[in-house]
Parts: sequence; structure tokens; C-alpha cells
Amino acid sequence: MAIPMRQQAAVGAYILKQRLLGRKRYPLVLMLEPLYQCNLACAGCGKIDYPDSILRRRLSVEECLSAVDECGAPVVTIPGGEPLLHKDIVKIVDGIVAKGKYVYLCTNALLLEKRLDQFTPSQFLTFSVHLDGLKEQHDKAVSQTGVFDRAVSAIKAARAKGFRVSVNCTLFDDAKPAEVAAFFDYVKELGVEGVTVAPGYAYERAPDQEHFLNRRKTKQLFREVFKLGKGRKWPFNQSSLYLDFLAGNQTYKCTPWGTPTRNVFGWQRPCYLLNEGYAKTFKELMEDTDWDSYGTGAYEKCADCMAHCGYEPTAVTDATANPLKMMAVSLRGPRTDGDFAPEIPLDRQRPAEFKHEDLVKSAVNSSTKAPEKAAG
Ligand code: SF4
Ligand code: SF4
Repeated sequence: MAIPMRQQAAVGAYILKQRLLGRKRYPLVLMLEPLYQCNLACAGCGKIDYPDSILRRRLSVEECLSAVDECGAPVVTIPGGEPLLHKDIVKIVDGIVAKGKYVYLCTNALLLEKRLDQFTPSQFLTFSVHLDGLKEQHDKAVSQTGVFDRAVSAIKAARAKGFRVSVNCTLFDDAKPAEVAAFFDYVKELGVEGVTVAPGYAYERAPDQEHFLNRRKTKQLFREVFKLGKGRKWPFNQSSLYLDFLAGNQTYKCTPWGTPTRNVFGWQRPCYLLNEGYAKTFKELMEDTDWDSYGTGAYEKCADCMAHCGYEPTAVTDATANPLKMMAVSLRGPRTDGDFAPEIPLDRQRPAEFKHEDLVKSAVNSSTKAPEKAAG
């Protein structure tokens, strides 16, 4: 794992406390989306197709900081949209860092070099730069040439100023294992702290539905990539058991409450990827969501998902309960041959419901009355 020991210890102590308190469900990472607006239009993105009145919305500094307090998770990830388009992003980040939370600011890096001097290097702040492959693959994935070069230049500038920097990457069904391996080698040479990798999952609003991975393909792709990675020491900053799950060696159920999402509409049910409604408060999200009705095997929309927002918390909980298993996988790496772990049967899943259009309509109506306010 590429995460510093101090951060691992803080998260471990938090998990231990939750267990001692007897909490069945608790958050590990807050996904804080302060805006949906972006300066790119990637083909696989399901976050930027809202009406303008929604794209203009911002969570205020106060709303962001109170979401951090309400949730209490030790790690806060700030995706978007593009967070660096938020005029108050520095105040938001500084405020969260002052609370002793570990912040991952996700960015496509187009504005990173320009805004770098406004941020202060800290053990609590990591820039998580979106890179989906080497130059050709990344510029194709973000539908714009030159973005890879600007992202790499920003990564180098941030590293030179002493910031923690990681890379987040999504693999789609056209990913070629040898190219992915070359990309991970390159990222390692760049000297970033870690790489977060996730399979593209075709949630309903991503416009390019054809190029996402289903579960079988995901497991095969990751096995082939990990086979190439033996001995190459790629610095993944995910838990070893989540990587083992991606390679098809763990039967895990999704635990989306581990990564709750606060965005301009409120607290999103059930997860970062699916938009099935909103709670006004974090407490309402945790207590009034019918969690058993989501996840692979429970809900048709979840059938193919192996995304880290649902399964990384499961893997972390498993690692805490079974440290020897976790250590064995960490030492030998994910298994890349043999039978896959049993898959969760899909014969009892409930059919998909399509609520998104109605939710957006009601949000647009509310924004006509109060343009800069979050609905929650
Ligand atoms: S950079 Fe991120 S938020 Fe922006 S369009 Fe691409 S995937 Fe979507
Ligand atoms: S399986 Fe879990 S993380 Fe994936 S879409 Fe369903 S609820 Fe969200």
C-alpha cells in the first residue's frame, strides 16, 4: 500500500473506535461534490450532463465543512465536476485540513499549475490527478488532445513544491493489459505516491454505455494486468483485498454507506454512482435508506458494479476482521489464476427504477426559486 503509515494508523484507529462502539454501519470516506461543472467533457462521464441551472450550483464553504462534521469520516475525497473551478475551493480544503481530515482533491489538472500557489503542502492534502492511460489513451478518454501533457506537467510542479500527489484511473473495456502495465510503470517513474484504479461501470447516466466493463471482463482484465505487474511494485493506494476482489478472488457485498456522497442536491442515495434520491441530513441518509435493496444481487442497476465506492469499504472491513488474510494477499499480490470466487446470484434482484429525470426536474424547479442553494 502506498498510503503513509500515519494515515493508515489514523484510519485504523477510527475503524477500531467504530467497532468498539458497536456501530454496524459507519462512513470511511466522505465523497464531497461541491459542484458538477467541469472544463472537460469526457465520453464516460455521468456527472456533467445536468441543465445549466444545476451546473451553476455550488456547495458553500459552510455547507462543505458542516457535511464533514456531520459525516465524521477520517478521509474526504473531493470529486466533481472539476473542484478547481470552485472559487472557494482553497477555503474548503484548508477548512477540512484544519479538522485533521485527509483530503483527496480530485482534478483533471488543467487548472492545477495555475492555482498551485494558493494551496499549502500538508500531510493531510493529496492532489488526485485523473489520468486514464498514457498520452494517446488519456487524451482519447477525455476527448481532448494535450490534456495528458498538461496533467503530467502539473503533477511534476506539485511534486516539486512538496505536495502529496496520486493518480486516479478508470479502465474501460478497450483497455489492453500491456498498455495498462506500461502506464502503471510510467506513473511509478513519475514519483507519485500512489495510483487508484477502478473499473468503468455503466451507471445509467454515463453517456457512453457501450464501453464499460461487466464483472467477468473486469476480473479477467485485472488478472491479466496483475500478472504483468508481478515484481514491478506498482504503488496502488487501495487495499490489497479490494485489488484481490477486482481479480475475482473475493465474494464481496457492496457497503455503500462506507463512502457517503454529499452534493449540491443533498446526501445522495445510495452511493456516489447511483442517484435514487436524497436525504436532507447524513443521519437521515444512514437511518432511512433501505440499504438491503441495493448492491449486486439486490438491484438490477448494481449487477455489474465492482466500483471502489461500494466495495473498497467492504474490503477494508474484511481486512480489519481478518488481518492474516489481508497480510497474505499483501505479500503475494492478488491471485491471477485458478477459479474465480463464487459470484452473487442475480435471480432475486429487483428491477431497475428510473427516477433520475424526476429528481432533476424537481431540483431545477427548486433552483428557479433559490439559484445558489443546495436542495438539501
Ligand atoms: S474530468 Fe472528470 S468530471 Fe470532468 S468530464 Fe472528465 S470525468 Fe467528468
Ligand atoms: S453496487 Fe453499490 S456502489 Fe455499485 S452502484 Fe450499486 S449501490 Fe452503488
